[in-house]
Amino acid sequence: MALADLHQPSVDAKRQGCGLRRIRERLDDDDRAWLARVLAADSGETNRAIADTLTRAGYTIGHQVIQRHRSGVCSCKHLED
Ligand SMILES: [Zn+2]
Repeated sequence: MALADLHQPSVDAKRQGCGLRRIRERLDDDDRAWLARVLAADSGETNRAIADTLTRAGYTIGHQVIQRHRSGVCSCKHLED
């Protein structure tokens, strides 16, 4: 396959936000509320525990992606919430 077909343009990634945001958009209201709760800075939940749960549910994600999202340095920082 040509590289041009494989390449995911950076501008698209910026528009869609990071992997965590793209997962969130696929969740139903209950799961989205749960995710917001565990992502809260004072929840005490670790990035790894959250990533493990999402991955078990079929939303494969690395804990580094969650860490970046929580730190506000991911590609969704430019997007409105
Ligand atoms: Zn993000």
